[in-house]
Amino acid sequence: MKITDIMKERMSLSFEVFPPKADKPMEPLMEVLDQLYSVKPDFVSCTYGAGGTNAGRHMEICKAIADSDNDTIPIAHFTTIAATKDSVRSQMQACLDNGIDHVLALRGDIPQGWESTRGDFSHASELIGFLREEFGDKFAIAMAGAPEKHIEARTFEEDIAHLRMKQDAGADLLMTQLCYDVNHFETWMEKIRKAGVYLPIDVGIMPVLNKNSVIRMCLGMNGCSIPQPLAELISRHYNDTDEDFRKAGIEYTIRQVFEYMALGINGIHFYSLNKADAVLEICDGCGLTYRK
Ligand code: FAD
Repeated sequence: MKITDIMKERMSLSFEVFPPKADKPMEPLMEVLDQLYSVKPDFVSCTYGAGGTNAGRHMEICKAIADSDNDTIPIAHFTTIAATKDSVRSQMQACLDNGIDHVLALRGDIPQGWESTRGDFSHASELIGFLREEFGDKFAIAMAGAPEKHIEARTFEEDIAHLRMKQDAGADLLMTQLCYDVNHFETWMEKIRKAGVYLPIDVGIMPVLNKNSVIRMCLGMNGCSIPQPLAELISRHYNDTDEDFRKAGIEYTIRQVFEYMALGINGIHFYSLNKADAVLEICDGCGLTYRK
């Protein structure tokens, strides 16, 4: 079963996890996965460290998801950073050998001090095209999209044209960067549809759990905006205890998920940050636990 088949029937539910550092045990993440399986997610995606330093662990996690009895599809993130055609060929074959046939094909963030990807691919579209050429339809391929524009793109039009290139290179599904501004997201969705990007859209939801994390994620990393209602929430709860802020943030996130659902998106993808409790509370508040 491919995720895109599921999305033809209904909205999908999924989570993102990340591998532990090389010197840390795997068990805590396996416990998080066990908790996440309780809502029967359609898929769980696992991030890939730029430069591939934890690539082995990322494969191990995706294999554990594939081997579990939960009907949950693993998606392996994969980046072009320092990737050669040969290394991609062998890692993708290893994915197939481990029962992993969904991949999120990314360029990856260029490491500090590097001028390029230092590999055979400069952009995600080239990786996607290569995967299609080499592996035909063996993989379902997801691509990334930034509703508030990728930080390096000069204009929205340019960024949307590059999205279209990824679709035309063979991507099956669009997974988005966090976007707290749902009105802006709606405008972006109309623009990409007008530009001929017709792929199903899986919305990345970054739960609001901690004010410093929200500020860092939006302003410190991704060039994303903090819309007025979220700014107001942060101001109102600025001096709250962590627990009180988290409670207000969870309520805010639940409302936001409903707003996204009302746009008719194809999937909700929670960035779990390897913390099951908060995302499961949000799922519960949104009625996404009906599959239990
Ligand atoms: P691209 O599509 O290649 O785009 C990058 C930039 O280049 C954009 O500005 C685009 O407009 C421009 N561009 C694209 N094609 C061309 C072209 N032909 N000519 C000129 N310019 C072009 N990063 C990780 O390292 N590991 C992860 O696991 C990871 N997971 C992610 C999951 C999701 C859901 C998302 C949304 C992002 C994730 N990222 C991850 C971050 C991602 O790698 C970065 O956003 C990266 O900077 C861009 O990746 P991309 O695939 O969108 O690149």
